[in-house]
Amino acid sequence: MTTERRPHRPDEPDGRWAPRSWPLWWSAALVLIFFLASASVWLAPQGSSVAAWWPASGVAVALGLRTRRDRLAATLVAIVVVTTAANVWGGRTWGTSVGFGLANGAEVAVVVWFFRSRPAPPPFASLTDLGRLVLATVCGAGAAAVIAGLTVAPVGLVTPAAARAVFASHAAAILVIVPMTMVHLPQQAHAGRLERVLQPLVLAASIGGVYAVEGALPLAFAPMPVLVWGAARFGVRFATVELLLSGIAMSLLTTAGRGPFPTTAARWDYPPEMVGTMLQAVLVSSALVSLPVALLTDELSALLARARASAETLQGVMEAATQTAIITTDVLGRVTSFNAGAENLLGWTAADVVGRATPALWHDEGQLARRSADTGLEPGLRVLVASLEGRPGSERRDWTWRSRGGEELIVSLRVSPLLDAAGQVTGWLGIAEDVTRSRRSEQVLRSALEREREAGQRLVELDRAKTEFVAAVSHELRTPMTSVIGNLELLLDDEAGSVSASQRAALERADRNARRLLGMLEELLLLSRVESGTFELRVGRTDVRDVVEQALHTLDVTRVRSGVHVELHEPDHPVELEADGEQLERAVMNLVSNAVKFTPAGGRVDIDVEDDGTAVTVSVSDTGVGIEAADVDRLFDRFYRAPGAVRGAVPGTGLGLSIVKAVAERHGGTVTVASTPGSGSTFTLRLPRNPSTPEGPAGRVGA
Ligand code: ADP
Repeated sequence: MTTERRPHRPDEPDGRWAPRSWPLWWSAALVLIFFLASASVWLAPQGSSVAAWWPASGVAVALGLRTRRDRLAATLVAIVVVTTAANVWGGRTWGTSVGFGLANGAEVAVVVWFFRSRPAPPPFASLTDLGRLVLATVCGAGAAAVIAGLTVAPVGLVTPAAARAVFASHAAAILVIVPMTMVHLPQQAHAGRLERVLQPLVLAASIGGVYAVEGALPLAFAPMPVLVWGAARFGVRFATVELLLSGIAMSLLTTAGRGPFPTTAARWDYPPEMVGTMLQAVLVSSALVSLPVALLTDELSALLARARASAETLQGVMEAATQTAIITTDVLGRVTSFNAGAENLLGWTAADVVGRATPALWHDEGQLARRSADTGLEPGLRVLVASLEGRPGSERRDWTWRSRGGEELIVSLRVSPLLDAAGQVTGWLGIAEDVTRSRRSEQVLRSALEREREAGQRLVELDRAKTEFVAAVSHELRTPMTSVIGNLELLLDDEAGSVSASQRAALERADRNARRLLGMLEELLLLSRVESGTFELRVGRTDVRDVVEQALHTLDVTRVRSGVHVELHEPDHPVELEADGEQLERAVMNLVSNAVKFTPAGGRVDIDVEDDGTAVTVSVSDTGVGIEAADVDRLFDRFYRAPGAVRGAVPGTGLGLSIVKAVAERHGGTVTVASTPGSGSTFTLRLPRNPSTPEGPAGRVGA
């Protein structure tokens, strides 16, 4: 039998003997079979047609189990030939010898068939392995018995005594010899040296005491308990060797006419085959009792060794976790283990707490009480585990612990039940990590965010109050201001009597400033409408050329500042779109008045109206002071004035561009600026024909 997948080591004397040593082992086994078979024939009880014991069949089966499948046929033939030859040499007739040879070959074939799917040599490590061997042995020895029985019987009849004797002698040989050649679990040390010497001595004494003397049939099974003792204390390997040696000793003594069976057979006139059958019955029984005990012993000690190894691994892991507290308790909560991590975290040593304390020692009592009140669970430590009872799994939760030194810790604790093989809870496992720092920083962050949110909220409220205030004040001031301007006009038109030249100059200054004030009030009002979302356009068909011309007229640029050349470039056809003409005029006025304001005398301002079909653009370029790159981003903010404007005492409020932006956006358009400090700026108002066409955000800037 072979297993192709097993790694092959050339010098390994296993089922696949190395190619070079294979012929040696093979021939040695066949020679051994020949001698054992011949010896058995020679030593067969007087008058018996079959031998008392047939160890050759044990060796033959062992050889069959270690033979590669492709060599099995040759091996079987060799076994038939060798056993036939041994029988002939032992003095049997050719016919009987060939029959017995075939019986041996068939037996090996049957046993090997039972192990066809097992590795070679097959394992002998569990009761299942023993069960398979017993079944294979019964069938193999049965086949041999039938063939041998037919061989020695008159034609067509099986001789029952011969068949029984062959069955017993072959079965005993297979059960005693073959387990020795199979693969066992590693041997564990069970017993002391004294026992190792004592047990074989007692076995030898019991065999000698029963089988070397005459009679004593009731004591025939006396060696069996001693064999079981050996099996229970020393395992499979030892038990198989003792079984073999006992089998040899008992057979030799029985063949020599000693022990319980020959005298009994003589007294009761049993057929001579009966002697062997009785002896083999003892051997088979001994094997069937001691082998399971030996197997269980080995299995148990392998399991114990494995359990001990995993307990040691677990212990190692627990001790290596110096930053994680791993604590186990029994069902009542008493600490059963306390690792180095727990010692580091809590300040107690394992000796302080194991078997002496419960986790109540470090758990915050108030927190446990609050949790039990919140959940309705029993108070005390039960709240840690109550939710886990009766269901598998674990639970993670933050808890407050207090160390031996009184320091408060926040730990993230995972609790899970420890279960025995039957699934009963035998204790609890707690694994905790110190999360004090991260939880505290989370807390600080959360309250900072909360404060930030409240401040933001207050700012929004303040801003709304300011917008409302500005709207109310602007609205209230507009009416008296309009009246002031009206009355100034009356005075200037001499409707209240003629005024002197100096009075006129004063009235004109008052009129100019009153109008500026009114303009400012209107801008404030408009911005507060934009902010409160109540700024509505009055849209109508509008020729942008008219809008720009009207703005220039209203502004009366030459009056605002002389020495700046203002030039308008516009198409000679109408440039119409749906727009609020009044607001557009306001926007254009702001752009042009800024351009004029920030351009020194001798400079120029160019206003270009263009229509590319999808949008109308009004760009206002000047050769003025320009704008620093750092200021560009904030130009469109309310009340923002570049430091240059403030320093140069250029009059203004910082509202104009935010109004331009608001008007542009309400029309679905944009206002952008490109400027070079010292050389001038270009502001471009772009108004799409179809305002739903997405345009870039208003106030986008290029320099
Ligand atoms: P105001 O003109 O009342 O100061 P604006 O909102 O119209 O307010 O303009 C904001 C700022 O933008 C101005 O104070 C000025 O610093 C800058 N600015 C606007 N237009 C120009 C321009 N054409 N050339 C240089 N700077 C300008």
